[in-house]
Amino acid sequence: MSGESAVRIALLLPDVLGTYSDRGNATVLAQRLRWRGIPVEVLEVTADTTPPTDCEMFVLGGGEDAAQAYAAEWLDRHRPLRTAMLARQVLAVCAGLQLLGQWMQTAAGDRIAGAGILDLTTSAGRHRAVGEVVAEATAPGVALLTGFENHLGHTTLGPDTAPLGRVVVGVGNGDGTDGALTDSVIGTYLHGPVLARNPDLADLLLRRATGLTLSPLQVPGEDEARRLHLHIQRRPHHPLGIRLGQQGVAPSPPASSRQKRAGRGAPGSPGCE
Ligand code: GLN
Repeated sequence: MSGESAVRIALLLPDVLGTYSDRGNATVLAQRLRWRGIPVEVLEVTADTTPPTDCEMFVLGGGEDAAQAYAAEWLDRHRPLRTAMLARQVLAVCAGLQLLGQWMQTAAGDRIAGAGILDLTTSAGRHRAVGEVVAEATAPGVALLTGFENHLGHTTLGPDTAPLGRVVVGVGNGDGTDGALTDSVIGTYLHGPVLARNPDLADLLLRRATGLTLSPLQVPGEDEARRLHLHIQRRPHHPLGIRLGQQGVAPSPPASSRQKRAGRGAPGSPGCE
């Protein structure tokens, strides 16, 4: 890309898939470019707008099952966006990751068709995975990934789809791996926002999207925050009494209460199914 034109980042459906401030991923991408003197523009693509197809990056966050079903239908309605996503760089978190696959199963047992951009499927697990995650990244040059997960879905990757990481603490896809890594998509179960907690991953995405060699950044507090997140993992209990890590697999509530909660699951509400 030319040094003059602004890098365009589309934040897709922040009003629908907004769980855990995943929108912060777009902020991190933009800020890391600005710090390097590279012009950038973030486009917030809400449900009522026609998505642009000429962006270098697309960012999708997580959400509850009801929000996810809406987003699947929205993506299906905007076919040119799907084509653009295949050709550009995409970050997809949790529900966003599941949405890009072949299909996903909700907590209520319904199967929703995905965008088919990734060869993966997601079934509802028996237990909700809630807690801190640490994963070894499969991409070279990316340090240990840390983040927070809250999902019921277990994801199975197709034979030719590589994971983004190997889980050290937590659940991720549910089989010892986390997320997916293809030429155009970085997908993960990690919230945080994941790019704020894992700047190497943000820079990997930026390098892939811009083709630029990016100068290293020294961001005040970044190393300290990473040390803290990794240190917390080694403690059986959080200082505030929250159980963490391997212990963070919460039993699924009974179907009746799950349905009640799913019924309340308006986009942006704190419950996450
Ligand atoms: N609804 C999905 C699940 O529970 C995704 C949740 C999320 O995005 N945090 O698996």
